[in-house]
Amino acid sequence: MRTAAGTARSGDAVADAPRTTIFTDVDYEKNGKQVVFLRLPHSPHDDAWGVIPIPICVIKNGTGPTVILEGGNHGDEYEGPIALGHLIRDLDPARIQGRLIIIPAVNQPAVARGQRVSPDDGKNFNRTFPGSPTGTATEQISFYVNSVLFPMADAFIDLHSGGSSLSIVPSAIIEPAPDPAHMKRNIDAVLAFDAPMTVVINNLGDPRTSTASAVRAGLTTVGTEMGGGGTVSAAALKVCRRGVDNLLAHFGVLPPAKPAPAGHTQLMQIPGSKGYVFATTDGVFEPFHEHGAQVHEGEPAGQVHHLTDPGRAPQVLRYPTDGVVYGKRQPGLVKPGNCCLVVVTPYTGQLA
Ligand code: CA
Repeated sequence: MRTAAGTARSGDAVADAPRTTIFTDVDYEKNGKQVVFLRLPHSPHDDAWGVIPIPICVIKNGTGPTVILEGGNHGDEYEGPIALGHLIRDLDPARIQGRLIIIPAVNQPAVARGQRVSPDDGKNFNRTFPGSPTGTATEQISFYVNSVLFPMADAFIDLHSGGSSLSIVPSAIIEPAPDPAHMKRNIDAVLAFDAPMTVVINNLGDPRTSTASAVRAGLTTVGTEMGGGGTVSAAALKVCRRGVDNLLAHFGVLPPAKPAPAGHTQLMQIPGSKGYVFATTDGVFEPFHEHGAQVHEGEPAGQVHHLTDPGRAPQVLRYPTDGVVYGKRQPGLVKPGNCCLVVVTPYTGQLA
């Protein structure tokens, strides 16, 4: 593992390398707790020389692993940022060994508005990695995370929920790593989180997510999906807070967790494109099953009603695979291409 001493700071960049646009008062080498901001220059109509203030907390005590904890990747997913807020306010630096870099509202404009994408540039932060120092605000933030924070760290925790359009079984997520030893590190860590369900998700191979970038940077990488629906689930928040503590104990930053994790070990996966049921017509989607239901290939998954044309029969959607219902669309209204249901299957190592 790299240690806290082996850091790459924005000021160390060689002359020709692209430099981050973000400035900050944070001292990543200082022991204790700092709760400050990353400041991204921003010049909209009503604020010529303003900044986007992105909250950051660094908690450091001596030497040990560096763990980045990210929330607010999507601005309408709340359990992660709430759990990280508790950590920022309550954690005594003397209890840890190493360094935590906590970015609980990383896409600050999206979090401030409670939206998945940034109202500033319309971008989904989790589709902008590795980012760009000459791009839009969202791209400049992902560039900072990728080029300044990732090189300092040993591990990365990215706390998501289902957001406004999905509700998802509270779960810990494995981002696949091509190197078997790295994959084992990710699996060991995600099982230590001890969520009721653990799912391998590769976002259909999309390389632009923060977890895919963290894996490319060599970091032990863990994600979550916690509830959703654009609201806060008390049950999912409990899973999230305990899971973060379990993970920090696993990494050796916190003392061993009490009580010891229950030991949920079954790995599931979204089996590529066969894991998704998409709408094929406009209307209102009626699901036929609840979360956790065992379903079968070809079985009716739900139907789309044409409410203003009641003489027309609803269009039935079917499951493309055997599996367990993992995620469900929240708004009733759908149009072709909307994700209505997500199904998981036992992990096979193949995400075709
Ligand atoms: Ca998300």
